[in-house]
Amino acid sequence: MKQLELLYEGKAKQVYATDDSERIIIRFKDTATAYNNLKKAVIANKGVLNNDISAMLYRHLEAAGIRTHFIEKLNERDQLCRRVSIIPIEVIVRNIVAGTMAQRLGMEEGTRPSNTIIDLCYKRDDLGDPLINDDHAVALGLVTYDELKGIYATTRRINEVLTALFDRVDITLVDFKIEYGRTSDGEIILADELSPDTCRLWDKLTGEKLDKDRFRRDLGKIIEAYGEIDRRLKRLEE
Ligand code: 5GP
Repeated sequence: MKQLELLYEGKAKQVYATDDSERIIIRFKDTATAYNNLKKAVIANKGVLNNDISAMLYRHLEAAGIRTHFIEKLNERDQLCRRVSIIPIEVIVRNIVAGTMAQRLGMEEGTRPSNTIIDLCYKRDDLGDPLINDDHAVALGLVTYDELKGIYATTRRINEVLTALFDRVDITLVDFKIEYGRTSDGEIILADELSPDTCRLWDKLTGEKLDKDRFRRDLGKIIEAYGEIDRRLKRLEE
């Protein structure tokens, strides 16, 4: 597999073409951003940990029968993935109220609702990733209602698998953001990373935040928290 030109550079990742038109290489960087780029920093080794964590989570999802873009981890910073066209919708799953939902609805962070909440946001930095509903997503031409039905079903299944997985290592999966992409033959599969950058993860015993909120809220010990997630998930692979 030969790495070719840079196709895309995001806030925390680079995407490279390969000599196989159906495969790309994703490189995890150490940069972190929050609040639509207002807060920026370099967190040494974050990319290495996120690559490792994302690879482990994707392997578990694949083993549970979820179709994803993940093929294999290549080295410390790179993973080989199927090439997809990303659907510009952030699908956010909330098991516990936190972050923007707590702020928007005046709810206390940490409230556990009786249902699981799925939000859709339109992935547009210039608009601040606005919250949208199914009708907006269809009106924007991003997906059909039928495709949304599949996306919701897969998302609920992903939540079940990941919640159970984190439960085994004494971590509460509070919420997370995922993205989907279309393959060249039109199949919609899970894409992008799954890491403490994209999930809220709280220690079950202490309630300690082990995710990007440590960066967003200046709580310190960011890399230690990411390292703790990596170590606990590794235990499951032994
Ligand atoms: P909130 O809407 O509370 O900011 O985020 C809900 C969940 O989705 C959190 O786990 C958060 O990390 C993730 N999330 C939402 N939007 C983004 C985004 O633009 N980038 C990343 N990395 N994660 C996001």
